[in-house]
Amino acid sequence: MKAAVDDDRCRGHGICCSTCPDVFDLSDDGYAVVLVPEVPAEHENDVRRAARSCPEHAITLH
Ligand code: SF4
Repeated sequence: MKAAVDDDRCRGHGICCSTCPDVFDLSDDGYAVVLVPEVPAEHENDVRRAARSCPEHAITLH
């Protein structure tokens, strides 16, 4: 699984970073970044939860 954050939608709430800090972090400019090219299997459920929780629907999974 790969995760991506749409910079045009992200508003920097940080919910994704709280939900799965091993995969998401906030960059210096306050927007979420994906830390890994491939989501480790043990984090897939948390990443799905983060995507569902994002109020801006900025996270896509594929
Ligand atoms: S929860 Fe959504 S809007 Fe908030 S920082 Fe994460 S990707 Fe951006």
